[in-house]
Amino acid sequence: MRIGLILGDQLTHSLASLRVLDPTCDRILMAEVAAEASYVPHHPQKIALIFSAMRHFAAELRNQGWQVDYHEYDAQSSCSTLLSVVQSCATEFSASAIITTECGEYRLQHAISNAWQQQLGIPVECYIDDRFICSQAEFAQWAQGRKQLRMEYFYRDMRRKTGLLMQGDKPEGGDWNYDADNRKRWNGDPSLPDPIAFARDDIDKAVIKLVTEEFSHHLGNIDTFEWATTRQQALEALAHFVRFRLPYFGDYQDAMAKDQHQLFHSLLSPYINCGLLLPLEVCQAALKAYEDNHVPLNAAEGFIRQIIGWREYVRGIYWLNMPQYAHLNKLGNTRDLPRYYWDGDTKMACMSDAFKTTFDHAYAHHIQRLMVTGNFALIAGIKPEDVCDWYLAVYADAYDWVELPNTLGMVMHADGGYLGSKPYAASGNYIHKMSNYCSGCHYSVKTSIEHDSCPFNSLYWHFIQRHKEQFNGNPRMTMIYRSFEKMDSGKQQAILNRAEYLLSHIDEL
Ligand SMILES: Cc1cc2nc3c(=O)[nH]c(=O)nc-3n(C[C@H](O)[C@H](O)[C@H](O)COP(=O)(O)OP(=O)(O)OC[C@H]3O[C@@H](n4cnc5c(N)ncnc54)[C@H](O)[C@@H]3O)c2cc1C
Ligand code: SF4
Repeated sequence: MRIGLILGDQLTHSLASLRVLDPTCDRILMAEVAAEASYVPHHPQKIALIFSAMRHFAAELRNQGWQVDYHEYDAQSSCSTLLSVVQSCATEFSASAIITTECGEYRLQHAISNAWQQQLGIPVECYIDDRFICSQAEFAQWAQGRKQLRMEYFYRDMRRKTGLLMQGDKPEGGDWNYDADNRKRWNGDPSLPDPIAFARDDIDKAVIKLVTEEFSHHLGNIDTFEWATTRQQALEALAHFVRFRLPYFGDYQDAMAKDQHQLFHSLLSPYINCGLLLPLEVCQAALKAYEDNHVPLNAAEGFIRQIIGWREYVRGIYWLNMPQYAHLNKLGNTRDLPRYYWDGDTKMACMSDAFKTTFDHAYAHHIQRLMVTGNFALIAGIKPEDVCDWYLAVYADAYDWVELPNTLGMVMHADGGYLGSKPYAASGNYIHKMSNYCSGCHYSVKTSIEHDSCPFNSLYWHFIQRHKEQFNGNPRMTMIYRSFEKMDSGKQQAILNRAEYLLSHIDEL
């Protein structure tokens, strides 16, 4: 008898390890363990979503005839780590082997593949996670010998590989990428569809009660829990998105608006990342909507690019470069994460709204993460490790393999431009252009050196100046350095002084 270990982000009926196991003689083990639930203070909604989806998945497996050993969360349990649960189950059933699928975190994968076999005294087999479109080995091969890795070229290969939006060997519509069409500001029109809602069953209710009792000291509200917790519900969320939001996804992909956390985004990442939805089926749904003339090309292409492009690309970078990648800090940042990342109390309207949606929904859309909270951390010189810990804790979709490269590489540029060619640093003007935040803000986005000037404005120039040596030679940044040089020296100094003042009072902004 073998034991198949299924982790909280492996809730897929076609999972590689499930395909090799036999329900007539093998057993499945699933466990909610304290060590995994609390090694960072995960948002209560993230814990509730994973536990509830796990319990539903276990019930589905039982209905299909599997023997499932399911360990519910118990803070007092002597089995507080995954290894101890596996050990206890393997002993109880005299298991001949443990069967696993590659997991999403280097820390755990390293332990499973290097130490478990010896610690357990039985073979531990680990299968490639073929839910991803590009395997770790394939990515390593793609990256080999390239001077610079660029997502765009990787993405084109993934388009060729999957055949998505391809006409023979040519991209649909003639271009690979329609990003230039995807930068509209949203002013309330088209109106937003109602969000999808799900009825809560006894499993959801029991998990929400458990999480409320055990994890209320973690940052974030559980009362506003709205996530799907079964594959059926996740499929409904996908269909709802494709029908009502995908048509405008492209146009308003970069837009932000106060109190509107979803806009035209899908909110599907937590389901794709935990296995309730497959990345390829989600892309196929978008493709079908395009083929049926329900959505324009810029929407379908923009959406598919995020999944077969960015999602697969960041995963490839993660596995190719761990564990050293997690410790990179090539801009030499030393500042602690400001207080408001944990309590949300700031006079900056854009930051305040991003924190509110984060705490209320365990979600913020990509531009809020990248150009508001991320941009601020970048230009204020916050320690990348602190920033990564925060993003890993607060979002329902956060798993190390995807959070780390997005935060450390894309946002913090702490890998020196390995993942992206240029830092995503911006002044308040970008936020003003893409949102309605600034009109209701304590600060003025129009000025840089007054006592109430937008902090992003002077911090942006301070960032540009303090990293002149690293970025001056980057052709994508030449214009920026030229604009600063064109300012008179008095203004330059006043901007840098204002930024110094803000940095020394950073917790008060
Ligand atoms: C600092 C930072 C941290 C992030 N941390 C995470 C994380 O922990 N987990 C996570 O899944 N995404 C992360 N992202 C990427 C992206 O912000 C989220 O995937 C997206 O906001 C999820 O919301 P959605 O499902 O509504 O996405 P949509 O805007 O609807 O996009 C569709 C899908 O594309 C995929 N996607 C889009 N952008 C990315 C990206 N950059 N990397 C990987 N997948 C992408 C997601 O699967 C997403 O569901 C992070 C981005 C930043 C800037
Ligand atoms: S003025 Fe600055 S701080 Fe205020 S909302 Fe605009 S960009 Fe954000």
